[in-house]
Amino acid sequence: MNKLTIVGAGLVGSLLSLFLSKRGHKVEIYERRKDPRRLKNSEGRSINLALSERGWAALKKVGISEEVMESAIPMYRRVMHSIDGKLSFQNYGKNGQAIYSVSRGGLNKILIEKAESNPNIKINFNHKCISADIEAGSVTFDNGLREIEVNNDAVFGTDGAFSKIRMAFQRRDGFSYSQDYIDHGYKELNIPPDALGNFKMEKEALHIWPRGGYMLIALPNPDGSFTCTLFFPLKGELSFETLDSSFKARKFMNDIFPDALNLMEDFENQWESNPTSSLVIIKCKPWNVKGKSMLLGDASHAIVPFYGQGMNSGFEDCSVFDEILEKSENLNEAFESFSNTRKPDADAISDLAMHNFIEMRDHTGQPDFLLRKKIENRFSELYPDKWIPLYSQVTFSHIPYSKALATGKKQEKIMEKIMAMPDIEKTWNNAEVYESILKYLD
Ligand SMILES: Cc1cc2nc3c(=O)[nH]c(=O)nc-3n(C[C@H](O)[C@H](O)[C@H](O)COP(=O)(O)OP(=O)(O)OC[C@H]3O[C@@H](n4cnc5c(N)ncnc54)[C@H](O)[C@@H]3O)c2cc1C
Repeated sequence: MNKLTIVGAGLVGSLLSLFLSKRGHKVEIYERRKDPRRLKNSEGRSINLALSERGWAALKKVGISEEVMESAIPMYRRVMHSIDGKLSFQNYGKNGQAIYSVSRGGLNKILIEKAESNPNIKINFNHKCISADIEAGSVTFDNGLREIEVNNDAVFGTDGAFSKIRMAFQRRDGFSYSQDYIDHGYKELNIPPDALGNFKMEKEALHIWPRGGYMLIALPNPDGSFTCTLFFPLKGELSFETLDSSFKARKFMNDIFPDALNLMEDFENQWESNPTSSLVIIKCKPWNVKGKSMLLGDASHAIVPFYGQGMNSGFEDCSVFDEILEKSENLNEAFESFSNTRKPDADAISDLAMHNFIEMRDHTGQPDFLLRKKIENRFSELYPDKWIPLYSQVTFSHIPYSKALATGKKQEKIMEKIMAMPDIEKTWNNAEVYESILKYLD
């Protein structure tokens, strides 16, 4: 049994505490924010996340998946909205497979509640980490009244993309680190329920308005509303910078996303008061200092949100680390092994997420993209052991991300050849198309 410090009671830190306590460790969590359960419902906007198989599996292991499922909304398909209001559809998986819209705040509260009811876990809110000695596993916090130093057997940095614990790693010789901002930022907007409290669009779907170069998406909330996110260039001719008034923003929305704008209320106020945020990619290694300190979740691998895998990969970090811990003699061995084996998967999902942005904004809704997916799905139905579409590998399986990325590249090359076959729009369902895929796979 060890006494362990976790910095950050976000999604990953609070889940990690449950895994560690199951292995008999005593855990102290320190969180900068106040207790989210004390916030009034009116504080903060409703923000949701897509939870998929890797995340669910981790929640199951700590026994909270059923509680989370009670308020989760399945999204079975993408609904693409073209500029003239036409809709096209694409199922995410087969036989009822879905990704789930869950409230970020609601999920965090469930995790915190579960952690706090565990006698081996203590959460200290309003404790901001201000420095750390990561070789010694000691951390200093400011709780608004004084500074306190906490010395336990080891410290886990789950304090997000701008991790204070990682900053201590950055001063160490041999630590590689990169931080990149992409050219796009985002702004959240809301579509409220109708007067009867009903959803104004198909409820059990993720809505996308792909516009080449940028896009709007919307995920459903249990109260009948949708949270929309506009991913848009931060600077340039058409950008958040140039849409510098709600008047200009309304005109733009009316030209480009007219059906979505029609469903919003109070657009001007939302545009002015909701922040424009940027998107950062963090990569680093190694994630541990011997058996004394380790980084997990966004602190070690922040990615862009376009595959809906940031939280899911952070939750999978916890499952993978737990399996390694079970087999290890001590923390040193477990930390080394986790940092070495998990890093290629974190790099792979980072690349996949960026790639999916291009696919979502430029290709979804295009006839050749939909045809390509149709052919892939058909082949996968015919030969399920030979072809799992890349999206399904990432979202509905536990295939390591690095393996999914490698297989996905191979599949892409094959599909390029198939899409170049003469009259493929007419012949796509012919046996020779599927025989060709089989041949290319050999
Ligand atoms: C627009 C957007 C959409 C997204 N959509 C999805 C999605 O659909 N699906 C998905 O899987 N992922 C999604 N993500 C990614 C997901 O939000 C993150 O991967 C996830 O929140 C990471 O969890 P974390 O616990 O590692 O970090 P965080 O959630 O950032 O939590 C870090 C915690 O540490 C605390 N903290 C920070 N600094 C200190 C300090 N100095 N001292 C003490 N405490 C500190 C913070 O207050 C916070 O509670 C999205 C991200 C964005 C930006």
